[in-house]
Amino acid sequence: MTARLIVDLDAFAANLSLVRERIAPAHHMLVVKDDAYGHGLLPIVRRAHAEGVRWFGAFDTGTGRAVRDVLGPDARIFVWMLESQADLAAAVDADLDVGVGNALLLEDFAALGTRPEGALRPRVHLKVDTGLHRNGIRPEEWPDAVARAAELERAGVLGVEGVWSHIAEASDAEDDAARALFLHARETLAAAGLRPGYAHLAASAAGFTRPEFREDLVRIGAFAYGIAPAGGPDAEALGIVPIASLRAHVIGTDGTHAHVGVGSLDGIPSPLGGMLSVRTPAGVRRVVTVRPDRLIVEGWDGMTAGDEVVVLGAGGLHSATELAERIATIGEEIAVRISPRIERIYPGAPVG
Ligand SMILES: *Cc1c(COP(=O)(O)O)cnc(C)c1O
Repeated sequence: MTARLIVDLDAFAANLSLVRERIAPAHHMLVVKDDAYGHGLLPIVRRAHAEGVRWFGAFDTGTGRAVRDVLGPDARIFVWMLESQADLAAAVDADLDVGVGNALLLEDFAALGTRPEGALRPRVHLKVDTGLHRNGIRPEEWPDAVARAAELERAGVLGVEGVWSHIAEASDAEDDAARALFLHARETLAAAGLRPGYAHLAASAAGFTRPEFREDLVRIGAFAYGIAPAGGPDAEALGIVPIASLRAHVIGTDGTHAHVGVGSLDGIPSPLGGMLSVRTPAGVRRVVTVRPDRLIVEGWDGMTAGDEVVVLGAGGLHSATELAERIATIGEEIAVRISPRIERIYPGAPVG
């Protein structure tokens, strides 16, 4: 009897279609970093592609290459975390779109040289830092970076396909200020003769609620997986549905409590002991303690080893976001912590 994460791909497809309607005519870039937010990369990517998604936000080159391997040429795959020159070369070989958030990276493209006759030209998306100060070309460095990118484009080293940024989505005022910087950066590009086909700046929250942030592409992860923002509107209000359900079995009892076989080492944060309830065959019961390998749960009459308990998500009491709010984090963090040792199961999905 082991814990498993049941992932409902039909529910996922319903979220994708809601996202598509909401952001049209902008396109959805499905963000699949961290093993598709813990839901399992390949089944998620296959189903999204079958549902018409053609842009994937993979974060790192390894993930990007894995997506390319399953989908073949009919997908645009965006990566923005490059570790080394070798990583960059691998991204170009796999025909990934590369986010450039550091002007030095342009020199790595230059070092790759002009592509051989017939080879695809590397596609870059220049990222301007609009206030998050993580990764992104600072506004004061932007004009020089743009000039260098234009030069490399003319030399046939790369093509500037996109301009992008990432915003906090914490307050409208901050996001508006970030957007003003973004629009200004785009004008600088245009003045340098660069008119990339894709502008993108919003993720789930701004993409849903602020039409002027949608541009050509909206990079959405959380809402596609049914994960609502912490402290914001809940899933129901947004119209999205949770797609995963974490289930485990009773592995033993001690007379008063049922011991359920999933614990903090599987990704249930231990501070949630006493703050969380689960659905048992006898109804709702409180989790008294989260141990490394098990939950200690208030018992019920007739509890026996093998009884199934819904711990989290669809069919349970709490969404990932609700748990997250109790320990002051975000739902994504709960989702991606579910241990890779826990098997992901996709009822009804084609095998293979
Ligand atoms: C994770 C991420 C997203 C997706 O954010 P959600 O809130 O999950 O939709 C978009 N863009 C970048 C750069 C990211 O890292």
